[in-house]
Amino acid sequence: MQTIGVLGGMSWESSLEWYRLANERVRDRLGGHHSAKIVLDSVDFAEVEAMQARGEWDAAGELLATRARALESAGAELLVLCTNTMHLVADRIEEAVGIPFLHIADVAADAVTRAGLSTVGLLGTAFTMEQPFYRDRLAARGIRTLVPGADDRHRVHSVIYDELVHGQIREESRECYREVIERLVAEGAEGIILGCTEIELLVSADDAPVPVFPTTALHVEAAVDRALGVA
Ligand code: GLU
Repeated sequence: MQTIGVLGGMSWESSLEWYRLANERVRDRLGGHHSAKIVLDSVDFAEVEAMQARGEWDAAGELLATRARALESAGAELLVLCTNTMHLVADRIEEAVGIPFLHIADVAADAVTRAGLSTVGLLGTAFTMEQPFYRDRLAARGIRTLVPGADDRHRVHSVIYDELVHGQIREESRECYREVIERLVAEGAEGIILGCTEIELLVSADDAPVPVFPTTALHVEAAVDRALGVA
């Protein structure tokens, strides 16, 4: 089994989930007392959030590239970044290390393709929904992406930063997400990418009339399978 380098803390609420799911998957795959080999570097999310808000993507890229190098030095053989948004600087991180980097949008795209779908709705932070880095990555794999309208994008983004990254799960926010999903489906979405690692703490398959693609769980599955040499 390879050691997975986990770049987390964005937010720690979802990194905790990533860590738990990874260990459960290794246990399910190997049985006995097996657990995942992980080195974790968890940043102070306030620093990253401030850089996002100021549009300081170069500085954020430099910070994460430095942390990625630290993970490689600590023995990581495979690198994951436990946030969709910060994949905006994925190139910078990938260039900084000599180990493979498992891009979360590629994992999502593979799952959508496996499900036989080609048009999906994308929920995530405003950065993920509005900037091209994520949609372009999906488009490169033949997937068309629909994003919510401006008001809905604002609601989805606010729930992430005001509630989910603080561990707050509210029924009214779940209902809001359900409505946003309904509107995307009405526009032609055949599936919904939960393109923010905290969203699956709030929303599950039960909340959508079409398949959902939870990026934390999918990322874990792909990383663990790669680490075990079965993918
Ligand atoms: N974890 C979130 C994501 O997957 C949002 C927090 C962040 O900005 O990193 O996009």
